[in-house]
Amino acid sequence: MNLPWITPADRLSSLPPYVFARLDELKARAREQGLDLIDLGMGNPDGATPAPVVEAAITALQNPANHGYPPFEGTASFRTAITNWYFRRYGVKLDPEGEALPLLGSKEGLAHLAIAYINPGDLVLVPSPAYPAHFRGPLIAGGKIHQLILKPEQDWLIDLSAIPEQVAQQAKMLYFNYPSNPTAATAPREFFEEVVAFARKYEIMLVHDLCYAELAFDGYQPTSLLEIPGAKEISVEFHTLSKTYNMAGWRVGFVVGNRHIIQGLRTLKTNLDYGIFTALQTAAETALNLPDMYLHEVQARYRARRDFLIAGLGELGWNIPKTNATMYLWVPCPPGTNSTDFAFSVLQQTGVVVTPGHAFGQGGEGYVRISLIADCDRLEQALQRLKQANIRYAPALVS
Ligand SMILES: *Cc1c(COP(=O)(O)O)cnc(C)c1O
Repeated sequence: MNLPWITPADRLSSLPPYVFARLDELKARAREQGLDLIDLGMGNPDGATPAPVVEAAITALQNPANHGYPPFEGTASFRTAITNWYFRRYGVKLDPEGEALPLLGSKEGLAHLAIAYINPGDLVLVPSPAYPAHFRGPLIAGGKIHQLILKPEQDWLIDLSAIPEQVAQQAKMLYFNYPSNPTAATAPREFFEEVVAFARKYEIMLVHDLCYAELAFDGYQPTSLLEIPGAKEISVEFHTLSKTYNMAGWRVGFVVGNRHIIQGLRTLKTNLDYGIFTALQTAAETALNLPDMYLHEVQARYRARRDFLIAGLGELGWNIPKTNATMYLWVPCPPGTNSTDFAFSVLQQTGVVVTPGHAFGQGGEGYVRISLIADCDRLEQALQRLKQANIRYAPALVS
């Protein structure tokens, strides 16, 4: 029974509808009809967690010393593994006491950071399209979002010069993410330098999501915001073990950067959670210390899928530029269709699930995101089905 006086808080009703929920409904219906779904919709890596990580978890699980509440700020040894990893990868020195905080996956940290820093009415700059937590966190906090619409002509980079002076003056935080989910765009180091100069000029806190730090190909090495001189004073950067190490279900991520910013998040979180199960922090430490050979295998797997799918979509009329990073392709809808209709119609006709770009904000309209989370045999089946249903890309005719 629904009681009319039991209503969610405004902070929930202010959220735009979650497109994934509607997609889930359609997926369930298609499954009921006996359709064999090829789900390339989510960002859920399909591989197993590396064996040494699982073994470390089993051993740690058997030690009763790990069974109690973990320390609020994470174990000292996991924090040290994080800062050592940072130094190895980026040459950036961080203090494990205060400049690194383990998280229950980066998603909660990204959203909770907004709750720790945004008052109702505060202005937050968020690209569109963006990973949903980057705008949903600030919305839950009561913030106002100024969308920075990303465009293919600018290689999906934020155009700082298009931000009105008054908006820049007012803005309190900027969320951004390169290599990007959903566009798969990467940003050159000069872009990071420009963002830091912009943020220092207008006194804006920078929040960079580097969750695809290691899913990069062909020798490309993503930039850490903290490599940029002067960035650490005004920034934090989020990382996750979910993607690189196939650990999405384990819920392990971390944030690094300015100690005062991290302290605010930590204060909020000590009121909400107890952090990550100690046994899992031991396993996560093992993951960060895996030899680079492991990374090369993961990268080779995604690169092979990328090449296979780009070639296959090419035969269907799509001209997708080669991506340098991430596990996604960002694919334009045939002219005249919107992303939701296109994704739903592909699902109904073929059982192939892709994510409508609109789910990532209005700047994602006109595109769908395809995740490289199936092996090439399965991707081949997906391509065959598209071909049979005559789903192709025909560029708009120029009259
Ligand atoms: C997958 C993803 C995350 C979430 O990672 P978790 O650590 O599993 O919460 C965060 N940001 C982006 C851009 C992602 O694609």
